[in-house]
Order: sequence, then structure tokens, then C-alpha cells
Amino acid sequence: MTSWTDVLTHFCLAGLLANPWRSPRAIRKLQEKKLMRLIPHAYRHVPYYRSLLDSARIKPQDIRTLGDLENVPLTTKAQLRDLPDAEKTARTIDLVQCQSFSTSGATGIPLRSFFTRQDALLKNLAWIRSFTHCGVNPFSRTAAFVGRRDVKTRRSWYEYLGLWRRQEISTWEGPESWVRTLRQWRPQVYQGYVMTLRLLAEHVQENDLRDIRPRQVLSSSALLDSPTRRYLESLWGCSLIDFYGSDEGGCLAWECPACKGYHISSDTVILEILNNGKRARPGEDGEVVITNLHSWAMPFIRYKQDDVVTRSCREPVCGRHFPLLEKIQGRLDDFIVLKNGKKLSPHLFYYAVDPVPGIRRWRMIQDCRHRLKVEIVPTDSLSPTSLKAIERNLRQVVNNDLTVEIVVVDAIHVERGKKFRAVNSKFGGPGS
Ligand SMILES: [Zn+2]
Repeated sequence: MTSWTDVLTHFCLAGLLANPWRSPRAIRKLQEKKLMRLIPHAYRHVPYYRSLLDSARIKPQDIRTLGDLENVPLTTKAQLRDLPDAEKTARTIDLVQCQSFSTSGATGIPLRSFFTRQDALLKNLAWIRSFTHCGVNPFSRTAAFVGRRDVKTRRSWYEYLGLWRRQEISTWEGPESWVRTLRQWRPQVYQGYVMTLRLLAEHVQENDLRDIRPRQVLSSSALLDSPTRRYLESLWGCSLIDFYGSDEGGCLAWECPACKGYHISSDTVILEILNNGKRARPGEDGEVVITNLHSWAMPFIRYKQDDVVTRSCREPVCGRHFPLLEKIQGRLDDFIVLKNGKKLSPHLFYYAVDPVPGIRRWRMIQDCRHRLKVEIVPTDSLSPTSLKAIERNLRQVVNNDLTVEIVVVDAIHVERGKKFRAVNSKFGGPGS
């Protein structure tokens, strides 16, 4: 524990807790103030952004408002991934001293990102702020299911004070191993991808493990389907709260029980929602583009997150003024693409399949332009009528534009350490 970290944490958290309550105008001013620091820094010290702005004939001093930012060309994950570190990171920062994260995308090739210790700390605190809003008790213990084999064992200083204690559990282990750790550590809060939580819940239910019972469940996945939410909430008798974030942007948005939407973490990120390159209107879907205002080592400026969300029509009612997202629709490669190019949200397919009785698990993939292949693991009660109903519902969703091929299988393998995607398309992703 170092005293500067202590002081910094205190000030950061105090600011983070106060910011959502500031007026929309003050929040915007704060974003622009941070932006006016980040852009000149990136231009001066990061070769990629210097050439990006030069090519668009933009000088750093031209970007003073959120409107000005829209003139900066977008950056994709593939663009950053293909650059050497020296091109995309700030020359003035020692990368050895930074925290790094690896994010894999649709291609499976990871992008390594770097954060200064201060930015990494702020990233953690922004998550803590969102948990606080959702009523997570700071003295509770959280089991965080993570997709890495090696879990972090190093504790933050506040954990030694009994605050925000967190133990990581690798999803590479199976449910039996998770249960052993949960029994040893007895956390009150479970946090993880939706499918991990579902696998755990199924294991708990099948084996009647009544002692495995969290008080709160926090999910993150970029796609929380209603049936899984209902299943987890009814099994464990607590409400589930969904979060939206990424390695590049940290906590991007979190569900607000009062507002029926997700508050955007507007003091740490500028989140744009673009529909065909234009700002999405309230109620419209669009692709997420982020500018991480605390990405000093490796800036993310107008970075395409490859997720689709719905902009909310509503204003916040809880007193916080961070704007709202209505729904997280999923990753681009979760979208099924019709012949005319129309992209269908994966949620539509959940609505089509889940009400039909007799299904234990399912997965579908659009492996060629004209076909949707559906795998179904049945329960004992799956009847031919149910199969017909699924086919009919799916044909309706795709408007008979794709052939629907249903295969009944014994099991669907859930790859360990990875997010499970029930709906997947080879044609929905970026550049498809
Ligand atoms: Zn709210």
C-alpha cells in the first residue's frame, strides 16, 4: 500500500461518485475538458493518431467539443491490432510500468492494450462506482468468473480494509471446481458472463446445492437474454444486474433499476451510437464507438467496439444525469444477416426458441448466406410438434429468407474460458 495510491483513490472515487449527479451541461463540459487533454497528447506522442489526424487535416486544437470529435475518422480493432506497439502507444510512457490486457475479437486474434497504473486504477474505480449504484455492499465478497486461466491473486489496498474484496475464478475450470472455491470463500456476490452463471446455476440445480446461493448476481456479456435472466433470478431469489464494458473502455454502462436502462459512464468515456455513420436517434439501434477519456498509454479515440445497442428514448428518473442506453443488442457477429443485408438482433432468436418446451440448450449459426443451422439439446419432453414450432418461429423471424436446418444433438460444447454465443453469424461481424 502506497500513500499516493491511497490519496488518488480517495479523490478519484469521490469525483466518480459525484459526477453522475452533475447537470447534463456540467457532464458535457467535463467530457470536453478531458477530451482537450487527450487529443493533443495522442497527437503529440502516438504516431498512429498523429497520422490519422494529419490525414483528415485536423489539428488537435480543432477538437474542443463533442461535435468536433465526430470529424475524427473511426479506428477499428483490426487497425490497432496490426500496428506495432510503438505506433499505437505514447512514446512518453514506459509500457513495462503499465497494466496490459488482451482482448480477442471475432477473428480470435487478440489486441493487447496498455493502461497506466493511474488509468487502470480509475478503470477499477469506475466499475466499483457502478456496483455501488446497484446496491452492492462494499463489505461484501465478490466471486468474479474470468476467462483467463491465470487468475489474479494480488489484492488492492482497499481489500485489506475489507472493502470490495474480490476473488477471481477461472472459467477454464469446471462447475465442480467453481463450487469448491465458492464453498471455501463464501462470496455474497457472483459476477460473470451470462453463460458461466447459467452453467453454474444448472449444476447447482441438478445437484441440489442449496448452500451455493448468492445475494446478488452481476452479469456482463453484451447480451443478456430474458429467459436466462428469469432462470437465474428465480433459482437464486435475487435480482440480476447487467453491466456493459470492455477491456478497451472499462465500464461503459450499467443497468439502473429505477431508470429501466443502462447509464453510460459519461465521465470516463464518450460513447457514440452510430447508425449508418450518423448519430442514432432515440429508440434506434446503432454501433458503439468509444473514446476512452482515461487511456493515456494507448489511446482509444473513436474506436469501434463492434457492439450494437439501442439508444434510449427516456431521460433518467433516478436523479443521475448520465444518459441511458435502452438495450445491449449484442456483438455485431451475433447478428444474423438476411440476403438484402438486413441484420437481425440475436434477441429475436431467443424470443423464437425459448418459449417452446422441451429444450435444454440450443445454439444457431449462420454458416452460409442462405442457411441458419440450429442445434438443439432436448429434454425428455421434446416432441415433433415442438420442433415444428421452433422451425415455424424461426422462419417467421428470418422472413423465409434463409433455410432453417434443425439438428437434435446430445450436447453442445461450451468452450471454456470463452463467451458462449447462442446466436452467431459468419456474416454479421465487422467488414462482412
Ligand atoms: Zn438511473
